[in-house]
Amino acid sequence: MSPLLVLLGVIGMSSATSAGPAVARDSGRGLPLVAAVDPTLRPRTERQPAAAFRARRPGKRYSVTVPIGKPKPSVALPRIEGPADGRLPLVVIDAGHGGHDPGAISPHNGAREKDITLALARAIRADLLASRRVRVALTRADDRFLVLEERFGIARRLKADLFISVHADAAENPEAHGASVYTLSEVASDREAARLAARENKANIINGVDLGAHSGDVSSILLDLTQRETMNTASDFARLLQREAGEAVKFRTHALRFASFVVLKAPDTPSVLFETGFISNKADAAFLASPAGQKKVARGVRDAVQVHFARRITAR
Ligand SMILES: [Zn+2]
Repeated sequence: MSPLLVLLGVIGMSSATSAGPAVARDSGRGLPLVAAVDPTLRPRTERQPAAAFRARRPGKRYSVTVPIGKPKPSVALPRIEGPADGRLPLVVIDAGHGGHDPGAISPHNGAREKDITLALARAIRADLLASRRVRVALTRADDRFLVLEERFGIARRLKADLFISVHADAAENPEAHGASVYTLSEVASDREAARLAARENKANIINGVDLGAHSGDVSSILLDLTQRETMNTASDFARLLQREAGEAVKFRTHALRFASFVVLKAPDTPSVLFETGFISNKADAAFLASPAGQKKVARGVRDAVQVHFARRITAR
């Protein structure tokens, strides 16, 4: 027996007799022993060590499975409201956060982002329905949790023409205030946008388990060429939203930003994330928690939506 085989046999035996890690390693060269003694990986002409010396293959007891890894295949679709005319554009409004995920919490009035976003979504729906020019669906109309993929998944399954995810930001600096509109990009417009996307994307993670789809799927979606036009349309709408809502709602100086938000990754539905203000700011928190403020936000969205679809109809 060659010295190498003797060495493998001895280490293999120690691995097989211990209840240690699944793959013991030769500390000198870092080779996994299981591979080293696996007869299928070596020339057949070589002498095999006696079966008793072979390291056991890792058994099932070493495998780790996480039972919850994907969103449920079909979350129930919400009702589409408005005129029963399928030719009218469909706008899906997504109230950010919900259920066990409160989002940001205001240090001033204790308002929770999930409640503010729901109130805003309802106010926007009311104004859009009153216009009679679009159909509307909400991803959630009550206090429930949805993973990010379910949110844009609803818009895709309904074949929505526009997806607006509504949020209210928070910052350590209590002076930070004003609204901003985010669109999807693989590269963030600035460090703050990148941080915000990281925070919002965390909504999927509970106790360290990512409840969303695999990130691989999401990045490959970005390579889809249809995404380009979708992203351009979303940027057009973001500009319109700032223009139309800008009179009644205070926007930040650099209000149009972009980052890699999971919730905006539908490849075929133009999507924006509307950060309606900072609930960490006293004035913004009071504005967003008040029915009057919510109405102003809703009017701005309604006006932007109307101009958006009017333009697209004339452009055809
Ligand atoms: Zn949020």
